Amino acid sequence: MGQTGSLFPIEEEAQPSEPLSGEFAHVALNRPLDCEFTYEVPSELSAGAVPGARVAVQFGPKREVGVVVGRDTTCDLPAAKIRSLQAVLDERPLLSAELLTLTRWMADRYACSWGEALSAVLPAGLKRERSRRVIRMIRAGEPASAEVLKELAQKSEKQHRLLRTLLEIGGSIELRELTRRLNLSDAPAQTLAKKGLVIIERVEVSSDPLASAEADRGRPERLTDEQSACLEQILPSVAARSGQTFLLRGVTGSGKTEVYLRAIEAAVEAGQSAIVLVPEIALTPQTVGWFRSRFGEVAVLHSRMTDAQRLDAWLSVSTGEVKVVVGARSALFAPVVDLGVIVVDEEHEPSFKQGSVPRYHARDVAVERARLEGAVCILGSATPSLESRARALSGEFERIELPKRVGDKPMPEVEVVDMRTEPRTKADSGIFSARLRDLLGACVERGEQAILFLNRRGFAPVLYCSSCREVVRCEQCDMSLTWHRKIDRAVCHSCCEERKRPGVCPSCTSPALQYLGSGSERVEQALRDLMPSARVARMDSDTMVRREDYEETLEAFGRGELDVLVGTQMIAKGLDFPRVTLVGIVSADTALHLPDFRAAERTFQLLAQVAGRAGRSDLGGRIVVQTEAPSHPAVTHAAAHDYDAFAEAEDGVRAALGYPPHGRLIRVVFESEVEQAVTEAAASMGAALKETLEGSGAMVLGPALAPFALLRGRHRHHLMVKLPDEETVQRATEALKRLAAAESSVAVKVDVDAVSML
Ligand code: ADP
Ligand code: ZN
Ligand code: ZN
Repeated sequence: MGQTGSLFPIEEEAQPSEPLSGEFAHVALNRPLDCEFTYEVPSELSAGAVPGARVAVQFGPKREVGVVVGRDTTCDLPAAKIRSLQAVLDERPLLSAELLTLTRWMADRYACSWGEALSAVLPAGLKRERSRRVIRMIRAGEPASAEVLKELAQKSEKQHRLLRTLLEIGGSIELRELTRRLNLSDAPAQTLAKKGLVIIERVEVSSDPLASAEADRGRPERLTDEQSACLEQILPSVAARSGQTFLLRGVTGSGKTEVYLRAIEAAVEAGQSAIVLVPEIALTPQTVGWFRSRFGEVAVLHSRMTDAQRLDAWLSVSTGEVKVVVGARSALFAPVVDLGVIVVDEEHEPSFKQGSVPRYHARDVAVERARLEGAVCILGSATPSLESRARALSGEFERIELPKRVGDKPMPEVEVVDMRTEPRTKADSGIFSARLRDLLGACVERGEQAILFLNRRGFAPVLYCSSCREVVRCEQCDMSLTWHRKIDRAVCHSCCEERKRPGVCPSCTSPALQYLGSGSERVEQALRDLMPSARVARMDSDTMVRREDYEETLEAFGRGELDVLVGTQMIAKGLDFPRVTLVGIVSADTALHLPDFRAAERTFQLLAQVAGRAGRSDLGGRIVVQTEAPSHPAVTHAAAHDYDAFAEAEDGVRAALGYPPHGRLIRVVFESEVEQAVTEAAASMGAALKETLEGSGAMVLGPALAPFALLRGRHRHHLMVKLPDEETVQRATEALKRLAAAESSVAVKVDVDAVSML
């Protein structure tokens, strides 16, 4: 049990000599204070205030919801300072002993309080005493027109952005989703509503469309030999409740999903439950439908649900009524009865790491939850992270493999085109190589389909002044602005702010501004110019504001109403379209030079993933990778479909530099609007940390400017701590908790096992 705290610091002289006796509860609150709080339990609440139950307590002047994590019959605090529990909120405890243990483990591992870890587990509707059942939908009103929009562009950038987006959508959308996406508060929407330009309506929540999605994946009569071999290893472990983790590496199209489905079948037949985690972007009606077609009722949990929907799903699994849960990151904490199997599909995905407190990695927590509950954990990927690979090599995870595509379909052939030697033609701004142009033409001619991938949206990512050689930047973020041509605005991709396209250079007023580089919007334009008769759709977060848009476009593509899909990472995952025979990677280099030690690994993973979209039927498939770094290992090994060679080489690089999986890594980010405060806090905490870790073999790098040194008006510095072993990690985490709690002038973000380096 964690240490005991009270609302007030304990004064030495106030300590009673004899501890109080009675009924006390330790309550974890969602606050960044690394302790629990003790309350007296009135006798009428004694039966309900058991570990795992939510309670209402007075904390300072406020009433808050907390979770009982322990009971005691004595208390060391002075009687005058103890308050009583006000209410027990649940008839039976919501959280099992295992989930309490798991969240305690998370608090220790990710340097947060127990209450903060618990807040990740409870759906939003349970963090408050009453949950939201009504949501607000917004749509453009009648008077909104092009004229109005033009006028608004002069007056209010935020209102303009909101109304413009609504007009583009041409329908209604949940207000909260829209404001989150546009990074706006409610204010611009409220102002527009007063003017009658938008209409905001409160509606009763209807059910989640994903919750009723249908997509049949017939149960194959026969497993492939490789699938059978994998299951021969997994199933005895499920029966034995071994708590074992398997790392399933299977190339794209090798039938990993069928392995998951059979393992879950075995668990369900034995009366157990299962949780399937997929990256948010892969949580489509198709994916959910596969599970529903096998298991009947399936609970879905993801971030776009309303509180009430999430609460319903949560409660339906906690009673054991629903046994299979499919969802994004937070579905990991579903309170299922008797957990038998956890699947983490695409385990290498960075989106399994949560960016805010508690900054947990769902894959690593899944392994721990499985261990605690005797469940089998299956981590699946075509390109496992180097961290999971290392744990498999050490024997901690069991390795299983699906080395071939189902039906012996060959892996698609990959051609690498060196864009440095490609002649630039005016016609397509040098976006397509001659080879890609030819293949695209032939593919569409044959009536087959193509996918063009570029992991960057907008038209031109750089506005460059050839007179003073400056790049036009966002004043809030110090990031290059991207020109979006259709809306003719210069957009900052980090804070979402837009402004009028500068007619002249903001630094020197020269009119010599150039629009350099290309994003998905430019690729779409170049493609339309190249093949005017081809039916083209673009999928990125600019064109696909609503989930429905995404699904409708994919359905149209599936029905053959489109020839080419142009898109960002939104189209990299999970799509399974038999008529796709060509995938063009317009540039493999977008992530290659990021200041992140995982840049090569990310590039390799992305190339393998995108390449996996082609050649999924007997029609075969071909990939064209355009790059200016044709001999980079991430490119050459991806072209050869050689995961092992890439992983081995990359692991050598990490070992030499002491990066994960060779030791662990903690990143600490310091943020404030006041630059000097950031510099000082980072320097003093860096020095203190170096002193604490002296002689441990740990390496403290920095403080230095973070790669995004200015973000939304906040200056940012960071420290990177490389830790050779678990004991040192422990020491560093303890020290950082202490130091961060003592720092009040700037925001300190401690990110254990950080995934983002920016
Ligand atoms: P992965 O997830 O490894 O990329 P999928 O699970 O999508 O691969 O499987 C690829 C394709 O093979 C799917 O269309 C699936 O229906 C099919 N498939 C999987 N297992 C079998 C099997 N045993 N027999 C026939 N087809 C199968
Ligand atoms: Zn200039
Ligand atoms: Zn910005």
